[in-house]
Amino acid sequence: MTFAATIVTLYPEMFPGPLGISLAGRALREGRWSLDTVQIRDFAIDRHRTVDDTPAGGGAGMVLRADVLAAALDSVGPGRPVLAMTPRGAPLTQARVRALAAGPGAVVLCGRFEGFDERIFEAREIEEVSIGDYILSGGEMGALVLLDACIRLVPGVMGAPSSGMDESFETGLLEYPQYTRPVEWEGRTIPEVLRSGDHARIEAWRRRQAETDTRLRRPDLWERHEGARVQSPSGAQRRTRDE
Ligand code: SAH
Repeated sequence: MTFAATIVTLYPEMFPGPLGISLAGRALREGRWSLDTVQIRDFAIDRHRTVDDTPAGGGAGMVLRADVLAAALDSVGPGRPVLAMTPRGAPLTQARVRALAAGPGAVVLCGRFEGFDERIFEAREIEEVSIGDYILSGGEMGALVLLDACIRLVPGVMGAPSSGMDESFETGLLEYPQYTRPVEWEGRTIPEVLRSGDHARIEAWRRRQAETDTRLRRPDLWERHEGARVQSPSGAQRRTRDE
């Protein structure tokens, strides 16, 4: 199955952009995922092809018109989730990315200016997604981030299928620190355990490092991880064995 991405945007020329190179680009050429864009302006209904207007109630900037957005969205066939990039949306997570990557694809609506007329969210089934607590000038960069995260999980895109599983966030923990040759560099050596060839020891070391890093760097993630462990019986068993 391929992952079909449709981007609804005022700037279709931004795609595939960085997704046209490296692993994602090769996978695109190989047909493992597909990309098409919908130009919102093509669905304007007036002579001047207006897509936005001034905010009701006053204030700075322009707001994207609900009628034009709806026409653009309705031009896309059904069967895939519709996601809108918005700063107030649900923060994007690896879990959501993984679920999307396992599905048929996504339709991604990109905002510009001050954003969308609120009524579009009432009138259409749209999931709002944020890529972080900062403001971009448009949703296109967010769409690229979302798609990049999904595409690398599509079967056949990444080199070794297993290389995704240890990655940060997949287990609810950050990844352990990585090293490679040379064994000694500027007087610093690779931790002895990683050169021991003792896979059980290596695995234990990595788990410990991942836990310590998560606790220190991302107490929010750690708390959630601990909460999940206490609730799940298999997690509780693992805990007893560790300690
Ligand atoms: N007035 C809005 C910001 C508009 S920014 C507000 O204060 O919330 C213009 C567009 O950029 C948005 O419509 C959205 O599509 C996109 N955007 C900006 N920041 C984003 C973020 N953190 N995550 C996802 N999309 C974002």
